[in-house]
Amino acid sequence: MDDLVDGLSEVSCDVLVIGGGTAGPMAALKAKLKNPNATVVLLEKANVKRSGAISMGMDGLNNAVIPGYATPEQYTKEITIANDGIVDQAAVYKYAERCYSIIEELDSFGIRFLKNENGDFAVKKVHHIGTYVLPMPNGETVKKALYRQLRRARLLISNRYMATRLLTGKDGRVAGAIAVNTRTAEFLVLKAKAVILCCGAAGRLGLPTSGYMFGTYENAANSGDGYAMAYHAGAALANLECFQINPLIKDYNGPACAYVAGPFGAYTANNTGSRFIECDYWSGQMMLEFYNELQSGKGPVFLKLNHLHEKTISEIEHTLHKVERPTRGLFHEGRGTDYRNEMIEMHISEIGLCSGHSASGVFVDEFARTTVPGLYAAGDMASVPHNYMLGAFTNGSVAGEDAMGFADGHDFAEFDPADVEKERERVLAPTKREDGIPPNQIEYKARRLVNDYLQPPKVTRKFELGQKRLGEVREDMNTQMMVRNSHELMRALETASILDCADMAAHASLYRTESRWGLYHMRTDYPEKNNDEWFCHTLLSKKNGRMFSEKRDVQPYIVPIADEEKDLYDKQRIRASA
Ligand SMILES: Cc1cc2nc3c(=O)[nH]c(=O)nc-3n(C[C@H](O)[C@H](O)[C@H](O)COP(=O)(O)OP(=O)(O)OC[C@H]3O[C@@H](n4cnc5c(N)ncnc54)[C@H](O)[C@@H]3O)c2cc1C
Repeated sequence: MDDLVDGLSEVSCDVLVIGGGTAGPMAALKAKLKNPNATVVLLEKANVKRSGAISMGMDGLNNAVIPGYATPEQYTKEITIANDGIVDQAAVYKYAERCYSIIEELDSFGIRFLKNENGDFAVKKVHHIGTYVLPMPNGETVKKALYRQLRRARLLISNRYMATRLLTGKDGRVAGAIAVNTRTAEFLVLKAKAVILCCGAAGRLGLPTSGYMFGTYENAANSGDGYAMAYHAGAALANLECFQINPLIKDYNGPACAYVAGPFGAYTANNTGSRFIECDYWSGQMMLEFYNELQSGKGPVFLKLNHLHEKTISEIEHTLHKVERPTRGLFHEGRGTDYRNEMIEMHISEIGLCSGHSASGVFVDEFARTTVPGLYAAGDMASVPHNYMLGAFTNGSVAGEDAMGFADGHDFAEFDPADVEKERERVLAPTKREDGIPPNQIEYKARRLVNDYLQPPKVTRKFELGQKRLGEVREDMNTQMMVRNSHELMRALETASILDCADMAAHASLYRTESRWGLYHMRTDYPEKNNDEWFCHTLLSKKNGRMFSEKRDVQPYIVPIADEEKDLYDKQRIRASA
């Protein structure tokens, strides 16, 4: 199976996009449309036709800013409050201003959005304050529709190539990337004037409680390679202590899903069937109430639909079981659970890093520029908070256009060929061992430690121990990991990314000595929010070969937030009233 082949080729392009899930295809398309004479390469470790978080479809846009329902100002305000104020609003505002034109464009690709009898978009309220959820009745076609556009633009697509490291020039500019074929282990050096990272969340960080290593909430191919590559290239990563933790269906480990069922009257309930949170929109504060309910003895927590009319339940089933995740229907069938008869048990997910749902990502400005010149990031791995799918499309567009502008104005940065040789040695080291530990065991061990030591509530002593134990796993990885074919080699490389992300998650969490973002960064030793010292971003980067964290001011708000609005997301719990 997938024998190892010795080989190395080199290609050049103007813009290289790494990751062909959601943000990547859009970034590549927009770059190409901006300059049709330029060469744009879209590199993907799976196959762009069916890769990324949207591979099986999506049931709706979670954050659509539709004129008549919401304004960019309202949306910017909502996300600022949801994210406990730690937001550079320029990027959020830019998204909010642009996303409607992207919806129209997606509509023209053949992706349908729910409309009312007047032909207007039928947006649903799920967030705490505003109305932003737009259902997609034929959401299972989203990836196909996108792929058609890539073919039409004659984009160069390199499937089955996993990027492992970025190349940088002597002047610090990005110079390209090194990739490995996941079926042959041959190397590809891609020289590029600009590079856009769209590798999705670090979704294989914690271990799902189901025990299935690949049964993650996130697309399991998203092993945090983008975070790791950005880190090793010297880019800053923002607020990595703001973990992603989601309320999911127990054992299925997919969304329950408040965004679809909520507008029809479903809700999250405790074991007495009572609602205990005001708003099912995913936020750290909502997750904290979920956690508190479990601690109070009123758990498990459930998704409750059994009070709804048969017709309503059928409609919800159609969307959840057919449009987004066909496996969900199979799961309920296999377990014999029916929304009509019972509440569906939920649980708290494994941790991950993801800006799509929270805020942890490679630091970017409103042009999707990272701190490394010529390097961009978009989608779940870039730091614009609560991005979701439409954020990936919109910020992917922004990145594509700006990166092409950068490439038009620059020549290739010159990199040191020794860097390629060094990387080949690193990548191929596990292939040189006759005996040792297979990558899946190293990965399992690292992720079990993540669950044991890094899952909130965060305890300083546990984090310190976790760092130590993870260091030992790294030692095993560096000296004993062994692979027998190119598929295992890919897993080995992913394991290295997972360990990098675990180290970054621990480092960033210890740096911020306060609690913020509800359960996402709940520190038992520092239980209070401390705005005097920590109303700031934290940036983590590699300095002199070591992990380094520092503070960065939140940029002055474009949309002011009144004092009485600032803690609206903290008021999630339903209070008994006389
Ligand atoms: C279960 C689930 C349900 C969701 N539901 C909704 C919803 O209903 N509405 C909504 O708005 N949002 C939803 N989201 C969020 C939304 O899907 C994501 O925010 C968005 O798709 C992220 O896009 P992305 O491009 O950043 O990542 P992805 O689409 O995941 O793409 C990342 C790509 O990078 C590739 N890759 C990774 N590493 C490498 C590497 N080293 N080299 C080459 N390629 C690499 C991966 O294979 C993948 O194709 C959901 C997410 C999940 C996981």
